Amino acid sequence: MFRDRSTQTADPARDISRSVAAPVIELVDVSKVFPTIPPVNALMHVNLRIDAGEYVAIVGQSGSGKSTLLNVLGCLDRHTTGDYRFDGIDTSELSDVYRTALRGSRIGFVFQSFHLLAHRTVLENVMLGELYLATRRSERRKRALEALEQVDMTHRVAFLPTRLSGGERQRVAIARALMGNPDVLLCDEPTGNLDSHNTASMLDLLDALVARGITVMVITHEDAVAQRAHRRVRIVDGILTEDPFVRALQATT
Ligand code: ADP
Ligand code: MG
Repeated sequence: MFRDRSTQTADPARDISRSVAAPVIELVDVSKVFPTIPPVNALMHVNLRIDAGEYVAIVGQSGSGKSTLLNVLGCLDRHTTGDYRFDGIDTSELSDVYRTALRGSRIGFVFQSFHLLAHRTVLENVMLGELYLATRRSERRKRALEALEQVDMTHRVAFLPTRLSGGERQRVAIARALMGNPDVLLCDEPTGNLDSHNTASMLDLLDALVARGITVMVITHEDAVAQRAHRRVRIVDGILTEDPFVRALQATT
């Protein structure tokens, strides 16, 4: 059901230069309020359209709402008001079971702290990326090895994550994210724990994934990381704005 594009609401008149592409992510007037005392307005009236194959950086200071946005986009958390359509699917209409299925089949996650299981090998960690799909173990193993090959980590399949460098751990985390064959990869400060050398190779890897047609969104504090993306959006106190300079460049190319 998740690949059915018949319900899509592409509006060619809105953005003629990109009318061929369909929005994979579409937020319309989305707000997120955490019901604490006092309440926190973490996202306020956010409008965002991301087409398939885009490479977008989300920048902003600590506490500005970046992770909240990523959690909403990844169906890890629900927004409070507004519409969020993923590939034309109205996510607020979906039950938690369907949201989990959507996440497992369409979206991959990469986090700053890798989130690998310490007592499982590299191969087992990657195989867990496909937990929700009812494939046979031998098939999952084969696909995990393929994913590890894509991130150049096949020489470490039997290692525990504790024996790996930060850069290697993040490569394994990306391989795990690739296991579900995601259309969209959501990365929350993926280079936050990496040195400049490992950051550079992580950026090369993200470039390669974008070249394969995966839509990549990356939250970052680092200019070097943000500059690699094709488009940048900024969040200040829950309010999202597009970087106008980059937008202007896009319009002329
Ligand atoms: P960023 O990722 O940009 O550092 P976050 O999205 O994590 O920012 O947080 C945005 C705002 O929402 C912050 O003020 C933060 O304290 C608040 N916040 C985040 N999660 C919660 C929560 N579960 N309950 C209450 N407030 C939260
Ligand atoms: Mg954050």
